[in-house]
Amino acid sequence: MAFSGDVRADEVRADEAQPEQVEPAKVVPEAEFRIESPIMQGAVVIGHAPQGTVRLVYDGQDLPLTADGRFVIGLHRDTGKEVTLTATLADGSTVEHVLAVTPREFNIQRVNGLPPKTVNMPPEMLEQRKAEVAEITAARATPSLDLFWTQPFIWPASGRISGIYGSQRIRNGVPGSPHYGVDIANKTGTPMVAPASGIVRVARSGFSLEGGLIIIDHGFNLYSSMLHLSRIDVKPGDVLMQGQQIGAIGSTGRATGPHLHWGLRWGNIHVDPTTLPGLPPLPGASAAIAAAQH
Ligand SMILES: [Zn+2]
Repeated sequence: MAFSGDVRADEVRADEAQPEQVEPAKVVPEAEFRIESPIMQGAVVIGHAPQGTVRLVYDGQDLPLTADGRFVIGLHRDTGKEVTLTATLADGSTVEHVLAVTPREFNIQRVNGLPPKTVNMPPEMLEQRKAEVAEITAARATPSLDLFWTQPFIWPASGRISGIYGSQRIRNGVPGSPHYGVDIANKTGTPMVAPASGIVRVARSGFSLEGGLIIIDHGFNLYSSMLHLSRIDVKPGDVLMQGQQIGAIGSTGRATGPHLHWGLRWGNIHVDPTTLPGLPPLPGASAAIAAAQH
């Protein structure tokens, strides 16, 4: 009797000495977010929501998910230090995930001492521009839920990078609109291809700023815009395969020389095509990036 009592007492003391050897599992690994790409200003961010997510909210919007829980978001050039994703699971509980956003240095040029002048668009051009903006906005009104965006993107053309995302000129203290895209300079007529599969939403020449313009819907709110084209080989509604020839480089619209401006949007947010996960470097372009001014 004394023996068994001692054992019991020892056990109790041992328990008291190490009270928390096994912590209750508050977060099971399946209930975590996984992010597949670098998180920085202007980036396209692809990730996996926790297993069993029935609703995913980012910046007040419900995000579509693939069958295996993948999602894509775009971070603005001027995104702050962190953003939050909120997943709701089937049992009603929520999982929050805070993404720490790496800030970037953008190429800012300050030009002072310019003679003050005001350039007003003539009224008939303002009307044309208003109609063009409405056309472009309408083309992005109903994003497809296709999974074209899940394939790694390729460059739409070869050439020299002559302009990079995010650069900005400040004239006499007045900031101009940042350059939202990457410019690939090459000869007029150089063929260009679809950087990923998608559905053509806009394909026509004659835009006052964009010139010849193709907008491709890659699904899940991700759109490519190809500007200044000299030739357009596709029409709205066409379903494109990645690598398919869609037109040719030009200098139509507001362009100082022949180049392809490749813009990328996630909804209304302009993102940097060069942050697309898996996009290889453009051959021979690295030296040009450092010298790029736009
Ligand atoms: Zn450009």
